[in-house]
Amino acid sequence: MVQLYRQGKDSLMTSLGRLRNHIGGEHVEGSGSLFETINPTTGLPLGEARSSLEADVDSAVQAAAAAQRQWIAMPPAERARVLHRVSQRLRDKRMELARLEVLDAGKAIQEVPAADIDSAADCFEFFAGVLQAAHGEHIDLGPSAFAYVRREPLGVVAGIGAWNYPIQIASWKTAPALAAGNAMIFKPSELTPVSALALSEIVAEAGAPPGLMNVVLGAGETGAALAAHPGVAKISLTGSVPTGTRVMAAAAETLKHVTMELGGKSPLIVFEDADLDDAVSAAMLGNFYTQGEICSNATRVFVHRRLHDAFLERAIARTEAIRVGDPLDPDTQMGPLISQAHLEKVLGYVEAGRAEGARLVTGGGRITEGPLASGWFMRPAIFADCTDTMKIVTEEIFGPVMSVMTFETEEEAVIRANATPFGLAAGVMTRDLARAHRMAAALQAGVVWINAYNLTPVAMPFGGSKMSGIGRENGLAALDFYSQRKSVYVNLGSVEAPY
Ligand code: NDP
Repeated sequence: MVQLYRQGKDSLMTSLGRLRNHIGGEHVEGSGSLFETINPTTGLPLGEARSSLEADVDSAVQAAAAAQRQWIAMPPAERARVLHRVSQRLRDKRMELARLEVLDAGKAIQEVPAADIDSAADCFEFFAGVLQAAHGEHIDLGPSAFAYVRREPLGVVAGIGAWNYPIQIASWKTAPALAAGNAMIFKPSELTPVSALALSEIVAEAGAPPGLMNVVLGAGETGAALAAHPGVAKISLTGSVPTGTRVMAAAAETLKHVTMELGGKSPLIVFEDADLDDAVSAAMLGNFYTQGEICSNATRVFVHRRLHDAFLERAIARTEAIRVGDPLDPDTQMGPLISQAHLEKVLGYVEAGRAEGARLVTGGGRITEGPLASGWFMRPAIFADCTDTMKIVTEEIFGPVMSVMTFETEEEAVIRANATPFGLAAGVMTRDLARAHRMAAALQAGVVWINAYNLTPVAMPFGGSKMSGIGRENGLAALDFYSQRKSVYVNLGSVEAPY
């Protein structure tokens, strides 16, 4: 199956057929029940696969362990060249891979080549570059001893992905894991299994030992089998907070390392001196890009009272101009939500907002007429007059629903922005440099954007604080989460003993 991405656009439009696990360089069927991946644009099946059970995961662990031994025996320069070739192949296949991702995830083709495929390629390029520069430490202990610290891989690591950025999530986990000398077993979301398989094929074609990147398909039970397997040294999960707590509890049984990239309810604070159009742009990027299905989205928009009416007026006008449509159409700016169940959940939040007295100023309804009626499409929504305790303001919606609130003072904005168990991201829009940095220090978040939103260059560590996560992806920081330190004490003198 993993060759399917070579078949071209037309054959992909109808069906990808049977998808298979990629284990040890072989394409093998899982031993569990069949499940389908649905094209969210049409509501029709795109492909089917058997889910992977404990025995399938076990064979992936064995294959990964063998590949990891070969990988770590290769000179670092050679390993770096493999990762460089992965990056180059991702760039060569940019549009093919982008179309696959559009079919599987419903993301607009206007976004995917740059936001997903280039991001994946950038990540392999970055970690190819740092692979040879990652080093240990030397510690001077006086004339007769020294110590050094080796940076060693963890061994076999597992990645479990969400469905919103499938190839990007797979790459953000696989590239640093491989750069640190590990082998990867990746489980994509059952809703978007396709591009991780394509990536693992590219890793193999680039010259990695067979089994260095394995893909096991399946739903939560497959992820749970990875979290429980004693041969897996680390789990890196991108998913919701409830899944994160379950996976972390399972990982604790065998004391695995964990990275948790979880949900958020991030604030964007628009001060009275902000550039109005930039503030509206940031709020829209932070709520409507990728149908609002982004973990770091600024779903709580606090606008200074003096700017509020003008902000809302422009935000409504620009939101109503968003082109919702077929995600393969280059003019489309917003595609369908990932699934019927998710659409219903998001529409349920719109109802909850209304019921609690928030003012729905635009959008919020499912598109029920024309060619989009068979997919999971809705109009992007803005709620005004929101209060801090409403369900739409406290819970992660993960769809195109913006909640706008007003504030008066900087102190008030900080207190209200931080009044959430989440701590993934935050944004500040202001021309006041001192205030911007005061806010950056005061906000409880893993990432703060000043006069920008949702930009995640690979060199910048990304991850959450509080209930939004543990550990960091990207940047040099990511290597620390895929390696362990070994201290070696070297005595140059005689051995002193009191006996
Ligand atoms: P889920 O938490 O539902 O699922 C995440 C992954 O975990 C999926 O592959 C899922 O399998 C798997 N899984 C589910 N149950 C278990 C289990 N018990 N053990 C092991 N694995 C399990 O999240 P979604 O896929 O719905 O993604 C949306 C969530 O992801 C949002 O909360 C969002 O904020 C978060 N997210 C966080 C990001 C970050 O970087 N912080 C980035 C992107 C998303 P399956 O789906 O196949 O059932």
